[in-house]
Amino acid sequence: MAKEKKLFAEYNNLYKDIGKDELEACMNFAEEYKTFLDISKTEREFVKNAIEAAEDIGFKDISKKKSLKAGDKVYQSIKDKGLVLAVVGKRPLTDGFNILGAHVDSPRLDLKPNPIYEDTEAVYFKTHYYGGIKKYQWTTIPLAIHGVIYTTDGVKHEITVGEKEDDPIFYITDLLPHLGNEQMKKTANEFIPGEDLNVVIGGMPLKAKGKENEKEPYKAFILKYLNDNYGICEKDFVTGELEIVPAAKARDVGFDRAFIAGYGHDDRVCAYPALMATFAQEKPNKTCICMLTDKEEIGSYANSGAQSVLYENFLMEILAKTGDGSVDILKFRKVIAASKMLSTDVSNAYDPKYSSVSDPKNSAYMSHGLKLEKYVGARGKSGTNEATGDFVAEITGIFEKNSIPWQTGELGKVDAGGGGTISAYMAKFGMSVIDAGVPVWSMHAPYEMISKIDLYYTYLAYKAFIENI
Ligand SMILES: [Zn+2]
Repeated sequence: MAKEKKLFAEYNNLYKDIGKDELEACMNFAEEYKTFLDISKTEREFVKNAIEAAEDIGFKDISKKKSLKAGDKVYQSIKDKGLVLAVVGKRPLTDGFNILGAHVDSPRLDLKPNPIYEDTEAVYFKTHYYGGIKKYQWTTIPLAIHGVIYTTDGVKHEITVGEKEDDPIFYITDLLPHLGNEQMKKTANEFIPGEDLNVVIGGMPLKAKGKENEKEPYKAFILKYLNDNYGICEKDFVTGELEIVPAAKARDVGFDRAFIAGYGHDDRVCAYPALMATFAQEKPNKTCICMLTDKEEIGSYANSGAQSVLYENFLMEILAKTGDGSVDILKFRKVIAASKMLSTDVSNAYDPKYSSVSDPKNSAYMSHGLKLEKYVGARGKSGTNEATGDFVAEITGIFEKNSIPWQTGELGKVDAGGGGTISAYMAKFGMSVIDAGVPVWSMHAPYEMISKIDLYYTYLAYKAFIENI
């Protein structure tokens, strides 16, 4: 029997064999994750909460440190929307960094630069969707608004509405089925055009003295409300980084509470365990890095995306501050080339309801643990990193030695679609990278699903990786 096990690959449902204590640890980890998820619905919020938690356990802004030694914990905010943290290790940096890299942005609806309009006695925000979404999923669900807006004096105004029990929510209407004959004939991609994702934000006219004849009284009401409460005017919206997100909180799914549904599992369900695995380090062998990037959902661009040199600068600063303060560029290039990374991003889980898009022999399954994905891409592996065999062997060796369950798979059948992560942008530095994250059902939906046991073992896998690679 033992021999047969070695011959055949076996990937099991991890709930089958989990012991009582471990199950309890898994459920507790899930509770902490849900709490963090509920207060971190935007990249800015995730970064702010992560910095707060990091400072609580001794992390310092790297700019405040003149030099660094083993055991030092530092971080740098990347434009308040990305974050990179380090725990300095005992071994020389020429051995490379051990990196966990996730992203903290999620698909959502952003406000347009000039978003407010009135139509037939209702007021709306115009939006421009962010990331890959099925547009129809965003209608008729409770929505909240989160973000910041600046006035020209440079003052930042934070807006969060729709999360507290007594807050109002916002809403995108859909057509009643009674009159939906024509709409229902369209393809799902067409029946809610992006330009129609307009959010209802009000419906009362302004009745202030002398304003009764205002051309757009309903819009005037909202503008006055926003000015009274946030000190902003319509023109200030051009500065806004305001995101419409689902108002729902993360909830357990199923009588047995095996799963969690929530907004933004992609990719906070990897960012959170990556952060916690980093927080668990005191004086690691190699210097551990946790990268939490922005803009992954739209190609990792901008100064906060994984392609920004700001992340690289932080690594360079660590090299400088653990040495004599200067940086030799070739030495730095060699340090990052010697580094090893898990690109900690989610992927799809096999969904029996939609089995036709997956190869069952090369799919990850819910509750079978972390999904190792050697490559993603689309149409003949285009646009992807591909992990080398020796690196995969090194990682699976570490997982097996530390009793970490793992599974593997592709993002769907050949030519069924595809996708990308930050791994390709990191591999260009010469480092070894593989995608490794939590399998998700309904990925990129406003309310996605994951398994608690996958989250828990992913945390243990990330920890084993940075401690042993
Ligand atoms: Zn992702």
